[in-house]
Amino acid sequence: MKRSHASMDKGVVDRRRFLSMALGACAISPPLTCLSMQLAAGTGGSLTKEQRDSMTPSQVIGELKKGNERFRTGKMSPRDYLAEKRSSAAGQYPAAVILGCVDSRVPVEIVFDTGIGDTFTARVAGNIVDDDMLGSMEFACAVSGAKVALVCGHTACGAIKGAIDDVVLGNLTGLLARIKPAVAATKFDGQKSSKNASYVDGVARTNVVLGLDEIRRRSPILEDLEKKGSIKIVGAMYDLATGMVEFIGG
Ligand SMILES: [Zn+2]
Repeated sequence: MKRSHASMDKGVVDRRRFLSMALGACAISPPLTCLSMQLAAGTGGSLTKEQRDSMTPSQVIGELKKGNERFRTGKMSPRDYLAEKRSSAAGQYPAAVILGCVDSRVPVEIVFDTGIGDTFTARVAGNIVDDDMLGSMEFACAVSGAKVALVCGHTACGAIKGAIDDVVLGNLTGLLARIKPAVAATKFDGQKSSKNASYVDGVARTNVVLGLDEIRRRSPILEDLEKKGSIKIVGAMYDLATGMVEFIGG
């Protein structure tokens, strides 16, 4: 028993030594190296307030781009979810709020390779901007301090196809009505049909751009934070086939 305790103690000491070395390495590295390690989960914990607050909105976008690069090249960071859960239980300091689609193929934490506590995530079919989503984004940025509000659409989106096809079905009808302005506003040479993938993706892109306009028009709080440079409001399109996120604006 004693020996077993001793070896356990030794394990704890070794781990502490390793952690202190890792923290020491962070202290002498450029701040961004540590931050990218945090967003990449390298140090096994969630973002701290200091780390999040020291990032600019552009740096946060840069980290999201790097995370997507890791995802689509199959080099995702090793992640200790239990350590992230432990370190974030008493408080969260996410760097971004991402409004995405409910589509099962676009799990935003995975495609951006982020972990517990890194991002607020709001998902609704067609990533539409409504009052409740705006409220969630205002909470994320104005109350909690997130630096980026990202609207992320995607290729081959079923909600976009439904809006193009004028689908009528229960509560979905009202949701699709919010996408119709994007259908009307999309300039496209060719067959304007839900069977035409390029047209569907064109409407999805317009829907993202109009979503950004809606945020600025309907949320003076977020618009003001953007004008002050405290946050960036940006869009993106995720390609189901390639796994690549293309940023729009910002
Ligand atoms: Zn979708």
